Amino acid sequence: MRTYRIAAIPGDGIGSEVISAGVEALAACAKRDGGFTFAFDHFDWGSERYKTTGAFMPDNGRDLIKSHDAILFGSAGAPDVPDHVTLWGLRLAICQPFDQYANVRPTRILPGIVSPLRNVSGPELDWVIVRENSEGEYAGVGGRVHRGLPEEVATDVSMFTRAGVARIMRFAFALARSRPRKFLTVVTKSNAQRHAMVMWDEIAAEVASEFPDVTWDKMLVDAMTMRMTLKPETLDTIVATNLHADILSDLAAALAGSLGIAPTANLNPERQFPSMFEPIHGSAFDITGKGIANPIGTFWSSVMMLEHLGEPSAAARLMRAIEKVTADKSLHTPDLGGKARTADVTKAVCDALAGDN
Ligand code: ATP
Ligand code: MG
Repeated sequence: MRTYRIAAIPGDGIGSEVISAGVEALAACAKRDGGFTFAFDHFDWGSERYKTTGAFMPDNGRDLIKSHDAILFGSAGAPDVPDHVTLWGLRLAICQPFDQYANVRPTRILPGIVSPLRNVSGPELDWVIVRENSEGEYAGVGGRVHRGLPEEVATDVSMFTRAGVARIMRFAFALARSRPRKFLTVVTKSNAQRHAMVMWDEIAAEVASEFPDVTWDKMLVDAMTMRMTLKPETLDTIVATNLHADILSDLAAALAGSLGIAPTANLNPERQFPSMFEPIHGSAFDITGKGIANPIGTFWSSVMMLEHLGEPSAAARLMRAIEKVTADKSLHTPDLGGKARTADVTKAVCDALAGDN
């Protein structure tokens, strides 16, 4: 029987609560399936470690996890550590060297969940956002001079490479092709940003010719926010830069009902390195320790992990269990307006898995 080795990195805040829930659900999933098992290795990397040792993870951290089949990540960020320090110290310190260049964010309104959009309750909103995850606005290029002085100048340079744009575009067209509507929207800001964004548009057109069965259109990111809100049914697969997709996917998560539900996969599609699966939400210190964090975002990310590992029937079974649970309002956590606790939702998902034929 195949055993998948998973590196579990709970991180900060509610990270540990949702990751223990995820580990429990994945173990229940493997038990129900009977064809594979999981071996979880836990790593206590995060802001507490940074505050005592000056580093979020050990120097050999990446070596410790580079042979795992996948990484399950909670959340990184603490109120007393600047966000950019955490982001670069932990998340990007894993994503970038492991070349997880495709960040995939499915968005759907699950049964029982209410969208803030009037008249939208189900199939009208079914998207996958593909975020370029390795360069662009988050390339880390830039600097500051004359710090604190009136003449101070600071730059963040968006850096795009032809190879980087072409590979994410191919990934997005292939993903669009795998979905029933075979439709891709390419998002840029090529009216105002006249170098790199124009290159995006050109490369999109080139790659499109390799996918004649996929229809596609282009959108400026500002107009895209309107289209997502007013005409969600006109969208399916969406590809955008690191920054644009970061913003659009928070909007998407909110339109689908709650940040607590939204999943994401940081994929290294060539499988030279492990891919990383995590809920979109942050560490949520306002509810940490209260036992009310919504674990659905982590469960849905676990579905994506199972798909990536090549266990589609287990993935589908976990997704059915999630949908059965969200459909029951008595199992909604406070972020969804309910009173359920993390443990209630986790138990219900495990029970649904055990009872699924
Ligand atoms: P970070 O800087 O770590 O991204 P943040 O404060 O920007 O944190 P979140 O931690 O995602 O963002 O929290 C935003 C809001 O959503 C908070 O009020 C939080 O309680 C709520 N929230 C986020 N995730 C969940 C969850 N899984 N369950 C319930 N509420 C959540
Ligand atoms: Mg945040």
